[in-house]
Amino acid sequence: MQLDRKTAMTTKIKHHLTDDLLMAYSAGTLPEAFNLVVATHISLCDECRARMGSFDAVGGELVAHLEAVQMAEDSLTAIMAKIQAEAGVSEDEPLAAPAVGSGLFPTPLRDYVSGDLEDVRWRKVGGGVSQAILKTSKDATVRLLKIPAGTAVPDHGHRGTELTLVLQGAFVDEHDRFGAGDIEVANEDLHHTPVAEAGVDCICLSATDAPLRFNGLLPRLAQRFVRI
Ligand code: ZN
Ligand code: ZN
Repeated sequence: MQLDRKTAMTTKIKHHLTDDLLMAYSAGTLPEAFNLVVATHISLCDECRARMGSFDAVGGELVAHLEAVQMAEDSLTAIMAKIQAEAGVSEDEPLAAPAVGSGLFPTPLRDYVSGDLEDVRWRKVGGGVSQAILKTSKDATVRLLKIPAGTAVPDHGHRGTELTLVLQGAFVDEHDRFGAGDIEVANEDLHHTPVAEAGVDCICLSATDAPLRFNGLLPRLAQRFVRI
């Protein structure tokens, strides 16, 4: 049943990670908060998992060439170490089939929540919206957002990059619709008012590397308290 749900999700995903994000993830240069959103999307999305595989292969080729140059002086030890390292690498293959959890959250997210949806400690942030900030390194912030069906998140722009992955329900903004598994990459150019679709509450995982910029005084005052 879980597999059916994931398979159904992966064929419905319309909005994917950009090459830039996949490459940065593969190279290990993203803040922890963004890594979590990327890893969670990849666990749901066959297409991005395959694209990530090709970036990892390119990275591996580069490393192999560097090792080949260094091997000249101490070749036998180096070769043995390389063989062992490669055996280890193939066992730890990060692109194995996605782990399947028992509920809504994919494995990368379950590790951060220490459980599933029912274990999230929500805090109300006004307008019916709740959030839970997850503990990561301080260079960026990642939170779960629960937006009641039919409710709008205040109109806002972005100072940095905002990466939003839909886990349940859907939201629409002025530009597009984002359903379960879809990822929205927003930057300084995007100004939007996301609204959760009627029906089911929208649950998202959202990473930001700078505070959002709300329009209007009230949301801006609230921003100081909710750390959006
Ligand atoms: Zn994807
Ligand atoms: Zn936004």
